[in-house]
Amino acid sequence: MPVRNNARSPRRKRTPQENAERQEFMESREKQRKEKALIDWIPKTDLGRMIIKNEITSFDQLAEKNLPLLEPEIIDSLLPDLAEKLVEFRKTTRVTRQGRSFSFRASVLVGDHYGHVGLGIAKDKERMPAIKKATSAAKMNLITVKKGCGSWECGCSTNHSIPFKTMGKSASVRVILLPAPKGTGLVCGNNIKDVLKFGGVTDVWCQSRGSTGTKLNFIQAAVDALRNTSNVKVSDELRQKLEKREMQ
Ligand SMILES: [Zn+2]
Repeated sequence: MPVRNNARSPRRKRTPQENAERQEFMESREKQRKEKALIDWIPKTDLGRMIIKNEITSFDQLAEKNLPLLEPEIIDSLLPDLAEKLVEFRKTTRVTRQGRSFSFRASVLVGDHYGHVGLGIAKDKERMPAIKKATSAAKMNLITVKKGCGSWECGCSTNHSIPFKTMGKSASVRVILLPAPKGTGLVCGNNIKDVLKFGGVTDVWCQSRGSTGTKLNFIQAAVDALRNTSNVKVSDELRQKLEKREMQ
């Protein structure tokens, strides 16, 4: 009878070093999987074919083309280091004539910590497909955050905050973002900290109205506020000022 090796019994806790190694291994495997998926990818849309031919090399060029973005692989190849986070996961119930039918709703946030952030919400009867669908949806909903330094107390030339006050809304929730001087950090609710972090904003003051306990609405309002930074019509004078700052 073989001697049981107690040192490797499953109950033993992993040391921090082993944990780090394991984490690294998982990350490298995930990266390999992603790379392989990109190599095997056969684009179905014009935009996808342009990516394969290297006609589009950045996300800004993609936005200029103004073509429908229907394949998440396009974003994978343009922004390979996109961070993903499951912000909400819920089991939903629908009452039908036959009884109750359950499904899962996943909300995934993606961002590159450098001015691009997206939120995707999807439903499925199974857990993993719901998360996968939401991740793809988030990639296709990616928005550009206009960054700058709009604080009169700071007046520096770096893109650490937002250029002006913005507001976003979702259902009853209103989120107002105000530019803050360098070193302030993110003064906002914990639920939307990730949205701002993923968008690459490091200093901002936040005000909110409405039922902010509704997590998903709160997050959607924050994403809307960041989207509005690029939607605001900027006067020529202000645009010159902002461009000058970007040049420096
Ligand atoms: Zn500043």
